[in-house]
Amino acid sequence: MDWKIDKGAAACLACGRGFSPGEEFFSGLEETGAEEEFARRDFCPACWAKGPRPFFSHWRTKRPAGQGEVTFVERASLEECFRSLWESGEGAKRPKLLYVLALLLVRRKVFRLEEVEREGLGLRLKLKRVGSTERFTVDDPRLGLTEVDALLGEVGGLFAGPGSGR
Ligand SMILES: [Zn+2]
Repeated sequence: MDWKIDKGAAACLACGRGFSPGEEFFSGLEETGAEEEFARRDFCPACWAKGPRPFFSHWRTKRPAGQGEVTFVERASLEECFRSLWESGEGAKRPKLLYVLALLLVRRKVFRLEEVEREGLGLRLKLKRVGSTERFTVDDPRLGLTEVDALLGEVGGLFAGPGSGR
C-alpha cells in the first residue's frame, strides 16, 4: 500500500493569504478520490467560517511562532484530528488512519498504552489520555511493520508541516 498525503501549503486555500507565525487557522482532511490518498487543506478563520467543503476530519492549528512551539502545536493538532475522527465515527471507516494517529499520540506521550488485548486474529489497543480519565480503544488493522513505519512518517509529516517551518 502506498499512502499519499498532500501536506498543504502555509496559506489559505480559498483566499491565498499566507499565515503569519503564531496565527491560528483551520485544517481539514479530505480524500483525493484515489484510495487512501489524503490531502490536508488549510483555511484562514474567515474562509473556514464559510464552510468551504465537507472534511472527514478537521482541527484548529497554528503556525508556530518559533521552533520551541513546534512540538506543542503538533501534539494539539494530532489530538484534535484523532478526536474529530473518533467523535464523528469517521475513524471507524478509516481504521488505518485512526490506528496510526493513536500510535503517534502514544509516541508524543499524549496517550499511554495501558493494555494490548487479543481480538480474534488481531490486537486491540487500550489507551488512556495522560492527565485525564478518558480511555480509547483502537483496533490494530494488522499492518506489516514496513507499512506502519511508512505511515507513521507520512501521517506524522502531515502535522509537522507546512506551517511549522520544518
Ligand atoms: Zn482565507
